[in-house]
Amino acid sequence: MSNAFTLFERHVNPGLAGLLRFTGLDVEEDRAEGVYVWDKNGKRYLDFLGLYGTMNLGHRHPRVLEAVRRQLDRMPMSVRVMVSEPQARLAAKLAEITPGPLSMVFFGNSGAEAVEAAFKLARLHTGKPEIITTTGGFHGKTFGALSLTPKPEYQDPVRPLVPGVKTVPFGDAEALEAAITDQTAAVILEPIQGEGGINLPPEGYLRAVREITRERGVLLIVDEVQTGMGRTGKLWASEWEGIEPDLLTTAKALGGGVMPIGAVVGRPELFAAFQHNPLVHSSTFGGNPLACAAALAAIEVTLEEGLPQRALEMGGYLLSGLKRLAERYPEFIQEVRGKGLMIGLEFTDADIGALVISELATRGVLTAFGLNNPKVVRLEPPLIIERSHVDEALEALEASLEATQTTLEGVL
Ligand code: PMP
Repeated sequence: MSNAFTLFERHVNPGLAGLLRFTGLDVEEDRAEGVYVWDKNGKRYLDFLGLYGTMNLGHRHPRVLEAVRRQLDRMPMSVRVMVSEPQARLAAKLAEITPGPLSMVFFGNSGAEAVEAAFKLARLHTGKPEIITTTGGFHGKTFGALSLTPKPEYQDPVRPLVPGVKTVPFGDAEALEAAITDQTAAVILEPIQGEGGINLPPEGYLRAVREITRERGVLLIVDEVQTGMGRTGKLWASEWEGIEPDLLTTAKALGGGVMPIGAVVGRPELFAAFQHNPLVHSSTFGGNPLACAAALAAIEVTLEEGLPQRALEMGGYLLSGLKRLAERYPEFIQEVRGKGLMIGLEFTDADIGALVISELATRGVLTAFGLNNPKVVRLEPPLIIERSHVDEALEALEASLEATQTTLEGVL
């Protein structure tokens, strides 16, 4: 066992260390490049997890590194009492590339912070306390975001949560409408649930929710922290149904896999509170020049290299290969689903999924289960993958399924 692993176990998170040991990943990571990661023993892994939808450009994309290096030599951190050009330029860029009239931006350092800001903006703008969230939804683990993440394992040990949150079934527009009251400020949802296990709502759901919220004067917050930046085959998953949310959250891939950054982009009138009270919400590191330089480069690369389209093509190729394997192993794989390169492999049993994850790791392919749904193994590789990488992953998965079958036959 490596030294860093022991220190991690002792000083960071013993439970997580146990989980990593179980999946055969009790090793130190060492370096990464493109679609590959190496551990300290020199073993190479194909990164089919991509930090849960963060590594859309692969690891260490040269244009993002170059942008960060240039900013590093100039001014990595803002003094905060002057306007930062990279931040202002990134805000303008986000206004340009997000749907419809979204044009004002608040910056944080993570997805959870983007959600926190959206939560506050919704209450500030409407003067109402309630927010509606969906079953299986994941919006982060800070208190506001956690209150919108209806998972007893995360919520119950740290109650009381932020009050005023109601949960309705994901994918059911009628139930959502029925839950709206005169105290409802906003609805928050993911266009495709990531941590919930790659759950695609029925077609027309987003459009229906948009119509209902508009009619009832309720804000719609679309959480694109995981689905955004090209992951599902469009720059934003909201575009699949042509909807314009009132607030859109983004993080993860926004930093190009090099810097942490989160943002909420919204209709300008929702930011009116800042006019009267500019410090009603703020963050020391949010929108720092280094992260903004990375994000500007990441957006440029995503658009210039046509990565949403590539996600669609490679996603289709991967999905059809997975479906073939699912047909061969129906006792293991219940369903394969996804859009673009946001793909879930639902196992008949969470323990079987865990065995397959560890077999895959042994064969040099990194994946993980959904935080909210351990039956689903998630595949969110960099959008720059090529057919040969997909073939490599499919071969490893086939061998892993065979090995799992052999293991289970030995047990039974
Ligand atoms: N929203 C969604 C949809 C997410 O998938 C996540 C992270 N998995 C978050 C919010 C929270 O992001 P972070 O971990 O950066 O706080």
